[in-house]
Amino acid sequence: MTTRELNKNLLKNGSYINGVWHNSDASKFEVSNPATGNNIIAVSSASADDTTQAVDAAVAAMPAWRAKTAKQRAEVLHRWFELIMQHQDDLAAILTAEQGKPLTEARGEIAYGANYIQWFSEEAKRIYGDTIPGASPGSRVVVIKQGVGVVSAITPWNFPNAMITRKAAPALAAGCAFVVKAASETPLSALALAELGEQAGIPAGIFNVIVSDNARAVGNVLTGDPRIAKFTFTGSTAVGKKLLEQCASTVKKTSMELGGNAPFIVFDDADLDAAVQGAMVSKFRNAGQTCVCSNRLFVQSGVYQKFSEKLVHAVNKLKMGDGSDSNVDIGPLINLEAAESVSELVAQALKGGAKTLVGGAVNEPGSRYFQATVLSNVTADMSVATEEIFGPVAPLIKFETEEEVIGLANDTDVGLASYIYTRDIGRVWRVCEALEYGMVGINEGIISNEMAPFGGVKQSGMGREGSKYGIEDYLEIKYLCMGGLDR
Ligand code: NAP
Repeated sequence: MTTRELNKNLLKNGSYINGVWHNSDASKFEVSNPATGNNIIAVSSASADDTTQAVDAAVAAMPAWRAKTAKQRAEVLHRWFELIMQHQDDLAAILTAEQGKPLTEARGEIAYGANYIQWFSEEAKRIYGDTIPGASPGSRVVVIKQGVGVVSAITPWNFPNAMITRKAAPALAAGCAFVVKAASETPLSALALAELGEQAGIPAGIFNVIVSDNARAVGNVLTGDPRIAKFTFTGSTAVGKKLLEQCASTVKKTSMELGGNAPFIVFDDADLDAAVQGAMVSKFRNAGQTCVCSNRLFVQSGVYQKFSEKLVHAVNKLKMGDGSDSNVDIGPLINLEAAESVSELVAQALKGGAKTLVGGAVNEPGSRYFQATVLSNVTADMSVATEEIFGPVAPLIKFETEEEVIGLANDTDVGLASYIYTRDIGRVWRVCEALEYGMVGINEGIISNEMAPFGGVKQSGMGREGSKYGIEDYLEIKYLCMGGLDR
């Protein structure tokens, strides 16, 4: 793919602050295509001062936005949703170019991301409060919910569209103004969203996108400015912890969508073909670079051999290459460091006694393309099982009993997604209730959609995105005590 094929109207090269595009030659960085290593475009890098300007704009713009009726805000959001869907192919091409996922997946992400905008445009109208009987005959208690205030966000490169819409949509629906720093590897999808947001009628200052290669400086403003009421982050647990600390000094409301280490559990009574299909989508989607990717595949001893054979058979059919080729199933990893880190995890596993059933290495030395890999004879203490792989490697771990696998699955500090395959309804309930995870896929490998509350427990974070719960993180509860009503 060349940049000429990308829609120039959506291809922006600087931050979007207060409705104005900021392009300056002062400091630029290149956005490159992970499939080819070629540069797509140079973008201006925003500074801490630029970020403060975006916060100024958000503070100034918010009162008028919040004063609109929920229906008016919903109409703007709905137009944004429609424009995104009208430009689905253009947005997918930009996403694939900067992130590397195959075009079909990129189109899927655009629709997935847009669905959150549609969903929250509807939820805007359902921000209900309560009336509560009072403590005395002359009193009544009324609870209202109001937008929390200015919201700041930092998002990762693996879903450069949807990780933004999942946060911006509930924020805007609730009457908040929003400032997001996009990942430096993938700023273009975020900027394209801003362009369509402007066309949809989002007022200047309400949706601001900062692109920068100085995450720390921008992050200091987004976590430290006292005018920001809420900070929301999606990214690694390590960075999330740091940013959470930074938010403490101004006691910001926070939500954190952090890393996972998803167990994928296949019991002897599972429908094996369904389990293999689930493993393929939950493991190899986005070349294994999602926070809900299966990270440890626990397979009961009775079906271990059969499941491995079927999985290897399916993996052998995957076509790796540049995601802009519509026949490609699996693209490159985001950068060379990612490929090196996955190679290291596999090398350590092999040293510890694991065996490669398929794949096992980068295509050629120095490549970002890591082959779809299945490892057998993995044990739960190997780093490939204790760390988030973020690559297309499926480590198979054999287990004997339900009790044993629950213990193994929960033996981690994180708890985002988990998956179980079984036909036994009693086991479904027992295992689901015992798993220390925010989400469980039951005979299902794709679990995320706008109707469902997405989020984790333990060090996978706090808060939920999507569903009727998703807007709660952007609302404050205000209690009105009404007295003297009996006089
Ligand atoms: P990351 O390294 O934590 O980066 C995420 C974002 O944080 C990027 O925008 C990055 O900016 C920024 N950042 C990094 N250091 C910072 C600092 N000191 N101050 C302020 N901002 C900083 O994570 P990633 O590698 O992009 O994404 C992968 C991780 O995200 C995985 O752990 C994955 O599980 C997690 N994730 C979680 C969810 C979820 O919903 N739970 C969803 C998707 C991904 P730069 O790009 O400029 O470095």
